[in-house]
Amino acid sequence: MLKELVARCKLGYGTIPFPAKEPILPDRYRGCPVVDAARCPGQCRVCAEVCPTSAVKVSADGLHLDLGRCLFCGECETACPVNAIRFSREYRMAARRRQDLVLPGTGTGTARALDARMKRLLGRALRLRQVSAGGCNACEADTNVLTTVVFDLGRFGIQFVASPRHADGILVTGPVTENMKPALIKTYEAVPAPKIVIAVGACAIAGGPYAGHKEVHDGVEGILPVDLYIPGCPPHPIVILDGLLRLLGRIGK
Ligand code: SF4
Repeated sequence: MLKELVARCKLGYGTIPFPAKEPILPDRYRGCPVVDAARCPGQCRVCAEVCPTSAVKVSADGLHLDLGRCLFCGECETACPVNAIRFSREYRMAARRRQDLVLPGTGTGTARALDARMKRLLGRALRLRQVSAGGCNACEADTNVLTTVVFDLGRFGIQFVASPRHADGILVTGPVTENMKPALIKTYEAVPAPKIVIAVGACAIAGGPYAGHKEVHDGVEGILPVDLYIPGCPPHPIVILDGLLRLLGRIGK
């Protein structure tokens, strides 16, 4: 027993000081892409051709990258001969409006907080029911990680609950398969109003690699009203945490 106590003391305090301090991200972390449309000659379209999800578009309007569709595979960055697309280490990517996920733009990472009435109703707590709507489980894994001591989601008053009747909203992952659509709608309807919907990951936002398949609905949009979009494939836990804290007004800038 003494040995366990000593070992526990040596472990120290494992929770990261985010958001008070900037997070330490892994070397291989690929954050928000920087789209430098001015560099793009607009003729080669090689980025659009290599993109597996048609997230990159080159048209008369110029070069655009839809973060909601992006799998962060990096193929466009590798293929572009003029460095018009470069991945940064920016983790602030959540947005309140779907159109704000289209780059270049100013909307990503600036997700505004819920309105004053909703914040008053929620108080200092947010209870979420997670719905896995047919994805590969990578987004669920990165969401689950938030409840470990490293991120300690509970210190912000955010918790995942078993029953939608005890929830303030739902957090959806996966492209919404035909099989999961009724369960998703029933879960949403069981949450007492007013309620919020958070779409996490490329699948929940726009179908991800499954977009266009006859058995999926290309994400939550069109089925439920979405309050917060968190892009990624899967999003790093810090990206999810940053989005949740912005929604609650705990991070202002
Ligand atoms: S990183 Fe995103 S935009 Fe670029 S090729 Fe991959 S999926 Fe398409």
